[in-house]
Amino acid sequence: MDCLFSLDIFNLTIMKIFCIGRNYVDHAKELNNPVPKKPLLFMKPPSALLKEGKPFYYPDFTKELHYECEVVLKMKKNGRHVHPQYAESYIGEIGLGIDFTARDIQSECKKKGHPWEIAKAFDWSAPLGELVPYEEFVGKPIAFNLDKNGETVQVGNTADMIFNFATLISYISQYFIVQKGDYIYTGTPAGVGPVTIGDHFQGYLEGKKLLDFKVK
Ligand code: ZN
Repeated sequence: MDCLFSLDIFNLTIMKIFCIGRNYVDHAKELNNPVPKKPLLFMKPPSALLKEGKPFYYPDFTKELHYECEVVLKMKKNGRHVHPQYAESYIGEIGLGIDFTARDIQSECKKKGHPWEIAKAFDWSAPLGELVPYEEFVGKPIAFNLDKNGETVQVGNTADMIFNFATLISYISQYFIVQKGDYIYTGTPAGVGPVTIGDHFQGYLEGKKLLDFKVK
């Protein structure tokens, strides 16, 4: 953490978490949102990460917490203004995460035209499962699903994304330096729903369980 206060952005050692909203048509429709023409980008701070299957504690400021299962990419090198043609070579690892969303608070923010951070970027709002090397997935459609208490609640395939990985990385890197260690939560398919204390979430990427944690 030697460069924490450096103004040299190329040497920053803090990672960023980029998140994409409405990247699957069926999910945009289930929340009555328009299908976006450009990626809808927001961020979470590093304090949002929850790793190693640690339990998630239901926050007291919401009565309508929703799960959103998403494919997560971890970057392996730095880049700005990355051309889509080379963008996939920036991905080091892939896994599954949850973009926890306080839907009641988000609805209020949306109504008022306010930012979303208190609804989406709060502490531990981004559980992240085990990551695997991206190499074997390059250029392939990737199937994933989320089970809640043993029952499948979300099924997705990256082939159904409105903006693919390369487009997302290229888009993000026009505004923010994409750095080694940064994460991208690439959006959720349909099937988002409420969370209750005691829920057990398990996420599978191509049939391999990568995400497993409980809500307390
Ligand atoms: Zn999301």
